Amino acid sequence: MIHFVNVDKVYPDGTKAVKNFSLDIEEGKLVTLIGPSGCGKSTTMKMINRLTEPTSGVLYINDRNIEEYNIHELRWNIGYVLQEIALFPHMTVEENIAVVPEMKKWKKKYIEKRINELMEMVGLDPKTYRKRLPQELSGGEQQRVGVIRALAADPDIILMDEPFSALDPIARERLQHDIQTLQKEIRKTIVFVTHDMDEALALGDKICLMKDGRIVQVGTPQQLMLHPENQFVKDFIGARQSPWETAVDIILSRSSRHIISQQQYKNGMFPKHGLYFIKDKEHRWVGAVQDGIRTKIAPLENYLPLHEAVERMEEGKYSALPVVKNGILIGVLSYKDVVTYLKSTDKRGDAL
Ligand code: ADP
Repeated sequence: MIHFVNVDKVYPDGTKAVKNFSLDIEEGKLVTLIGPSGCGKSTTMKMINRLTEPTSGVLYINDRNIEEYNIHELRWNIGYVLQEIALFPHMTVEENIAVVPEMKKWKKKYIEKRINELMEMVGLDPKTYRKRLPQELSGGEQQRVGVIRALAADPDIILMDEPFSALDPIARERLQHDIQTLQKEIRKTIVFVTHDMDEALALGDKICLMKDGRIVQVGTPQQLMLHPENQFVKDFIGARQSPWETAVDIILSRSSRHIISQQQYKNGMFPKHGLYFIKDKEHRWVGAVQDGIRTKIAPLENYLPLHEAVERMEEGKYSALPVVKNGILIGVLSYKDVVTYLKSTDKRGDAL
């Protein structure tokens, strides 16, 4: 979807902001660009919507060199969310959201519907909030409007530059959660800049860690945690807690082992022996069935530390337990996964 090939950016004053940057961002994925301040994250991102141009190298979107796109069309198809909540202060919430759809000359009726739909998606009741001005909203609410404004005209790509860093931890967590839900529902390609490793680990399908304008390592959160390529990656991942404190979803392979659908359960279409976990059409946790009989099992919440997961497995003599995130069944964690993980951290001789 977005393809950087040997991109360099040198600013007119000679600052080499981005060096030989090559990265593939796949459609529908959320990729975080992370690294210390000044490492070139924002510059990299701004090249995608041509707020800044590469000095050399090429950027493709859908296999087409971005220089070939009409710049307005390109930008209309790329949502952009910034750290400073850049809502237009004299426009109401609905007017703010409608800006790009109006530029695109969408039908009024359709825009009306879209505004309601988006507001509901992030938990802002249209009746209460549509006519408010930005100053009549909390920081978190403003940022939610900022996010849905970027989505309003249904862009294929969304760029987010430290969108939540000015928010308090609660608003921040809520928006991170919104983004994950949106991502699942609408499958946009999201490029997300942050300097916060916890945020990157929580959000990213893929993390691109940068230093001095270069890529240091690209990988899934698990890959960076388990196989950091060098000391810089280790340091950046940080003085994370002991491996036993690692949250279960960090080492969760999103495998569907032992997961069956409600339909399969109803039709008896699953093995008669063993433990199986049932999810509904929306991937919500329904319950468990053991040797063909429904059984009560409390699933693991995604944020639980490994030591608690292991305690629960040992208590119930389970070799694996389901993991849910906000009620959604996201995978199964086995005892073996935990052991493999602990061994790998042990081998490196340091605490993650
Ligand atoms: P990050 O987003 O990782 O903090 P930036 O991409 O903003 O990093 O900046 C990368 C480097 O480029 C920094 O050294 C910064 O000072 C420099 N830089 C950013 N914008 C400009 C500019 N317009 N002119 C000159 N140097 C710039």
